[in-house]
Amino acid sequence: MIRLHDTRAKKKVEFQPREPGKVSMYVCGVTVYDLCHVGHARTAVAFDVIVRHLRARGFDVRFVRNITDVDDKIIRKGLAEGRPAAEVARSYADAMAADMDGLGVAPADVEPRATLHIAEMIDVIRRLEARELAYAAGGDVYYSVAGFPNYGGLSGQSPEELQAGARIEVGENKKSPLDFALWKAAKPGEPSWESPWGPGRPGWHIECSAMSHRYLGDTFDIHGGGSDLIFPHHENEIAQSEGAFGAFARYWMHSGMLNFGGEKMSKSLGNVVTIRRAAETHDLEALRLLLISVHYRSPAGFSIARDDAGQPVYPDLDEAEARLDYFYRTLERLDGFAGTLASPPTPPPSDLATRFVEAMDDDFNTAAGIGHLYDAFVLANKLLDDPKAAPKTERQSALTALARDARMVGTTLGIMRRPPAEFLNSRRARLCVQRKIDPQAVESSIAERAAARAAKNFQRADEIRAGLKQRGVELMDGPKGTAWRVV
Ligand SMILES: [Zn+2]
Repeated sequence: MIRLHDTRAKKKVEFQPREPGKVSMYVCGVTVYDLCHVGHARTAVAFDVIVRHLRARGFDVRFVRNITDVDDKIIRKGLAEGRPAAEVARSYADAMAADMDGLGVAPADVEPRATLHIAEMIDVIRRLEARELAYAAGGDVYYSVAGFPNYGGLSGQSPEELQAGARIEVGENKKSPLDFALWKAAKPGEPSWESPWGPGRPGWHIECSAMSHRYLGDTFDIHGGGSDLIFPHHENEIAQSEGAFGAFARYWMHSGMLNFGGEKMSKSLGNVVTIRRAAETHDLEALRLLLISVHYRSPAGFSIARDDAGQPVYPDLDEAEARLDYFYRTLERLDGFAGTLASPPTPPPSDLATRFVEAMDDDFNTAAGIGHLYDAFVLANKLLDDPKAAPKTERQSALTALARDARMVGTTLGIMRRPPAEFLNSRRARLCVQRKIDPQAVESSIAERAAARAAKNFQRADEIRAGLKQRGVELMDGPKGTAWRVV
């Protein structure tokens, strides 16, 4: 049984899909007017893990994540860059797809774009008009919030409370401050489409009602998004969809925001951490690990500091990458151990497997799940270090189960999916460049140390090891010779 936190119920509830064994899910995607930053990564990774776990638990998931490709910001960016808004949207949508791939976020089953669903949006607006929930004014069309008494139900605010913070901006033709635009009359130089109300373009909220209906029907299981979308976006989606079709999402899930410790991320400080910027100095899998190390609903920390040269550095991300390095090194050791077994055992699920699934069934608690993974790897290293730590067959069986179950955990979390050597070598090469360590020089020092040891000159051998250590190079002696890493 899976329990999830439903925003509307304000508590964890038992998840009962509409159709047994099937899950239909819609998550609000990105407005493509710029490169995605680490905040976008948080929401995308949170829902990617949720989908992965549902699939791992045997559900047949249909996952829809939209792309907002018409919007004020896109239009402004087009004017600033001197190219059509559609081109701006296309190029940033491509960039987003590449960044998400780098983060291990799987494409959704359907990734509908707003501009390809204008007819569906017009249809929803016409339904709302027929039910007197929408009115045309000056070429715009607005939703009449007074006609929808449940407005505010998701965020737990009364219409009166919401009314207090709402304004009618210059140029808007709405009757009441809480009313919102479903359709906006065309302005010169802006993209527009023909409609029963004259040429114009859709308001932001209508696309999600139209596209979720097109791909998932009148009602579906889970609607998700970042918690910054609860009001007004998701309240407005509910008003539109329930107003037009009488039903909408059955469960609402929202992921928490990123907290920037130290410097605040802002365009004016020039320290916006795009996913690309993070990839210049770190492995994106480390960013993924950082983001899922806390529960998806809690705020996650992403600290920004400056190095001596005044360049931005990311201490939390460094730490996450070191943890990932530990995971991969442990996996590599487990693989090495498996290679020594003539006939590997087929043990039952380890405690890791059981505890991980329990944690994930309890509102997708990745933080607890990663804690179990860490504990399991500490145990694995202990068993690997000391052959006498357990009887032989018990030890073999425990290590075989840990290696297998750690990969199961990795599949659900979207981490540890590369061969360990691939991650470890690429990280070492990157750290060598960053710290100005010459790998050739390290290799010749290792050869010199081996020669000193062969000549029983242990003092010289120790000097070489200590010298390398001072430069951040750690040697690991093993049956196949000496390996090294940058620490
Ligand atoms: Zn939406």
